[in-house]
Amino acid sequence: MMQKAVFPGQYIQGIGLVQRLAEFAGSFGKRALLLASPRIIKSLKQAQFSFFETIVPEAFGGECSRLELKRISEIIASKRIDVIIGMGGGKAIDTAKITADWADIPVIVVPTIASTDAPCSGCAVCYSPQGVFEEVLFQKRNPALVLVDLQIIAEAPVRFLVSGMGDALATWFEARSVNATKSYNECGGLSTLAGRAIARICYDTLLEYGMLAKIANLQHIVSPAFANIVEANILLSGIGFESCGIASAHAIHNGLTRLPETHAFYHGEKVAFGVLAGLHLTGASSQEIEEVYSFCEEIGLPLTFAELGITNPQPERLMAVATASCEPASSIHKEAGIITAEMVYQALLMADALGRARRGQSI
Ligand SMILES: [Zn+2]
Repeated sequence: MMQKAVFPGQYIQGIGLVQRLAEFAGSFGKRALLLASPRIIKSLKQAQFSFFETIVPEAFGGECSRLELKRISEIIASKRIDVIIGMGGGKAIDTAKITADWADIPVIVVPTIASTDAPCSGCAVCYSPQGVFEEVLFQKRNPALVLVDLQIIAEAPVRFLVSGMGDALATWFEARSVNATKSYNECGGLSTLAGRAIARICYDTLLEYGMLAKIANLQHIVSPAFANIVEANILLSGIGFESCGIASAHAIHNGLTRLPETHAFYHGEKVAFGVLAGLHLTGASSQEIEEVYSFCEEIGLPLTFAELGITNPQPERLMAVATASCEPASSIHKEAGIITAEMVYQALLMADALGRARRGQSI
């Protein structure tokens, strides 16, 4: 038996931190490379941050592919970079994490949106140059520093924050399931008390501050509630999923991606629907179902197939989702008992039916 939890080296959250990037990078090395989209680099230059005297900017090619990873690795070697900063929404961050791991140098992650719990983790997703999923790569260490500038996150569209809450919503339920069946987490061990406590406080924070944070984000206000939700989405959910594990919600998310119409929806929006279906799948109490549906309703996460773009939910299409969710290596098998595609199919129908009933639609 082995229990395991992993954490980023440092997590720093506050207002105006990006202006101090050179100072933070300086504690990890002398020659820093900033990998970000051309748009971000341009806006940083326009803001006339002095850090470009010491930090070398490199425009991210747009895809975390083997080709781009090779290109960045060559730059790291030729410029003798000793710390890499990945700034952006996801793929630039993942590229920075992987290339830093290969070069054995520290990585600083600067998320500009709070839409998923990936920034703190020690894994990253690799795609083909055309953007088709290829593989998940695991790093030897978690990021040395995750630097979250609340002002930048507050200026991003609110849908990102809401999606991040959808991703974070899964954390506690999946942690509970994985612990109940004593399955392994995402870092290769059983969960710890610390991991589970963090997953639980992630859920409690969402219920307590979700709505206030959404309103703050709509007005680009950095309030304490907003800061709490950013922390829940990035730090608490990040440690929670990696150190406690994933189960049905992410498996159902993966199944939903089989339907092309769901591709326009963000990871967290599909994961949130996976949570709803997961509650029905696992026989959650009516009180808990009420609590989670109310939360999703309040902050604007999808409750029905139609709200995920699935306007033609024919049985064979839903069965394809259910079957994909139950592949042999799927995290759905970390739920208690034997989970079949038929059970998932019924849970999907139930999640949508209750959603429609709550929306006052015919069922
Ligand atoms: Zn996720």
